[in-house]
Amino acid sequence: MTTPVYENFINGHFLKNQTGDTFAVKNPATDEVIYHVEIADEFIQNAAIESAKQGFAAWSAMTPIERSRILLKAVAILRERNDELAKVEVLDTGKPWQEAECVDVETGADVIEYFAGLAPAQVGQQQMVGNDFYYTRKEPLGICAGIGAWNYPLQIACWKSGPALAAGNAVIFKPSEETPLGAIKLAEIFIEAGVPAGVFNVVQGAAEVGQWLTANPNIEKVSFTGEVGTGKKVMASAAGSLKDVTMELGGKSPLLVFDDADVSQAVSAAMLGNFYTQGEICTNCTRIYVHKNVYQQFIDELKTRTEQNIIAGDPMDPEVNLGALISKKHQELVLSYIDKGIQEGATLLTGGKALSPASAPSGYFVEPTVFVDCKDDMTIVKEEIFGPVMSVLVFDDEDDVIQRANDTHLGLAAGVFTKDIQRAHRVIHQLQAGICWINSYGNSPAEMPVGGYKQSGIGRENGIETLDHYTQTKSIYVGMSNIESPF
Ligand code: NDP
Repeated sequence: MTTPVYENFINGHFLKNQTGDTFAVKNPATDEVIYHVEIADEFIQNAAIESAKQGFAAWSAMTPIERSRILLKAVAILRERNDELAKVEVLDTGKPWQEAECVDVETGADVIEYFAGLAPAQVGQQQMVGNDFYYTRKEPLGICAGIGAWNYPLQIACWKSGPALAAGNAVIFKPSEETPLGAIKLAEIFIEAGVPAGVFNVVQGAAEVGQWLTANPNIEKVSFTGEVGTGKKVMASAAGSLKDVTMELGGKSPLLVFDDADVSQAVSAAMLGNFYTQGEICTNCTRIYVHKNVYQQFIDELKTRTEQNIIAGDPMDPEVNLGALISKKHQELVLSYIDKGIQEGATLLTGGKALSPASAPSGYFVEPTVFVDCKDDMTIVKEEIFGPVMSVLVFDDEDDVIQRANDTHLGLAAGVFTKDIQRAHRVIHQLQAGICWINSYGNSPAEMPVGGYKQSGIGRENGIETLDHYTQTKSIYVGMSNIESPF
């Protein structure tokens, strides 16, 4: 059976590369190749830059309200095509349909809608300086590159293009080689909505194409989502042409469960924050610190619910709530972390093996896995695993657990469960993380800025302040009286 071949999306249409080089994309739940994609060769790369230059000229000349109107049409199309787009995400990522159907497209559309609304609301300042005055303009940066990870491909493309386009920039987006189709669908939708050709371009390929984007002097900014190690390379390369960077990187986030917490709610948060999207979420609370007084109750309920309520299988089955990991290689990596947890003395409460569900026997599944009696220096407690592997630790002192929670070079997210309102805020204010939840975990609405402390990131996505990352301020001084000059 022949599979489709997708070309790069440049200047409003698909464009064939010259080398003819392609890569294959597999469905993680079946291990079958579902389509091929052409790699962005030098011809495509040059065309992308020319296209984005023209796109930028047309788009930045429009008024913000015109841009807003067009982006809102794209939002409406995204919502109309929710199911078709959600299916693309399920087949590319292996995540369950029951998630993609209500989260992936929806949260992407929300962010474009939010920034479309803000586009006309961007204002500068003016101030009198004696008889003279100055005013400022918020101007777009030019061509921005977006580089995405594979866990939320369409959502990431929306989260990067929403603020970039609202502010008047053009975008060249490179999705992960594992999940290239969502961004192509978004590019088609932008064109259908009336976004001028060249404003949103999609280039395909692996690290080399990302490297080209980060080094290219025509590109003013890189917004990157991916691993910490890759983020460092991206930033170093972007420094060559002093590009602005936004980095959304990895995490090893703590969830603190105090002894006055609603334990069932805390178990729900822990399961959501470790097993949703089969554990492939950057903000996951993979270090769960539970107060010694409720530790046994917590792990008893966690074990029961993990063993009884999780259904792995064909991700398109609406009953399935645990999908396949992104690739065989990633499955092996996650299993190797589990082996390390056992070797280093953690107690396996449940899970720990690869899974081969009857409805998807060739998929890259891993059982939902919980380690208890973990110690802070274990590899599974220190390193991001990015799979369904939870580590539970015990604590008995507030100051001590805060210090332990902060003892990491990462700082993406954190959570606290307690009914004591003062303790909730006191503790969360001391946790070194950019995205925090109290008696909740994982929600990330368009209105709320998200991003990491320490090595988990630079800059923010979503929320009003993100527009500042896609604009530059021009200050204009206006003389109202004769110039005083010694010459
Ligand atoms: P990677 O860092 O491996 O890849 C991210 C993107 O960068 C991919 O498109 C990749 O291409 C590309 N890339 C790889 N090398 C380079 C390079 N040298 N220069 C430029 N681009 C490059 O991350 P993953 O795709 O494995 O995603 C998982 C990671 O993403 C986890 O660490 C997770 O925590 C993080 N993440 C963070 C989020 C956040 O908001 N903080 C959200 C989602 C994920 P290709 O894959 O095609 O090789």
